[in-house]
Amino acid sequence: MKLIRFGEAGHEDPGVLLADGRRLDASGEFHDYDEGFFASGGLEALKEWVDGGCPGGLEVDPMARLGPPVDRPSKLVCVGKNYRAHALEMGGELPTEPTLFMKATSAWSGPNDDVVIPRGARKLDYEVELAVVIGRTASYVDERESLDCVAGFATFCDFSERAFQQEMGGQWMKGKSADTFAPMGPWLTTADEVPDPQKLRLSCKVNGELRQNSWTGDMLFSVRYLISYISRFMTLVPGDVVATGTPGGVAMGMTPPRFLQAGDCVECGVEGLGSLKQRVVASGG
Ligand code: ZN
Repeated sequence: MKLIRFGEAGHEDPGVLLADGRRLDASGEFHDYDEGFFASGGLEALKEWVDGGCPGGLEVDPMARLGPPVDRPSKLVCVGKNYRAHALEMGGELPTEPTLFMKATSAWSGPNDDVVIPRGARKLDYEVELAVVIGRTASYVDERESLDCVAGFATFCDFSERAFQQEMGGQWMKGKSADTFAPMGPWLTTADEVPDPQKLRLSCKVNGELRQNSWTGDMLFSVRYLISYISRFMTLVPGDVVATGTPGGVAMGMTPPRFLQAGDCVECGVEGLGSLKQRVVASGG
């Protein structure tokens, strides 16, 4: 199944994207795709509704904005330097343990929403990533069972301001958390439709130029390992999102660096999971 959310930012309604391309409103049956939905068997109920022909489900207005396909999560856990080429282009050594950091959930954004350059920013960068949405509470979960805790997968862009991230002390979160820095979508593909999350191509284009082009098989730490690993340090609750790292080709890694400017267009895609498209715009301030 493919889950979508549509409508005004912060007031989205749940829906589904059907195999025939139709987008149907599921808000008559379901409140939202949030922690409670996943925790209370919502996915199974949604599947029943879809298998039954989506009774009462009206078509979504084709002009409606798409929001991120799940409600703003309780946590947005990111994995740094999880692809060899990216770890090397960032000038570091290869990590021997997954590098984890948090991104503020207020950065949550829709698949086609603009990305806004924060005030004082000089080094805006892009990072295409495979995002994992948690469907079942994961605490000290064994690697052999960790994928059972996954509701589905989506395309994610971990927008980053490298000066805030690297030149201003402290943790990376300063450079990762501005509003609009966490677009996800365009839909959530349920895990049953992704037989192997380590076999997906992912790419990022800036103004049509291919900048990142890799596949998830190049991850240093697999999705299976990461979910188990993270669950040793915190409980992942339904609806939480794990961004699994970006491959090489970010602006910071180029000589000279080619950071994003107002007017640029960033397109991120993961094979079979759909694409995001962000226009880069200056902040009003
Ligand atoms: Zn990242």
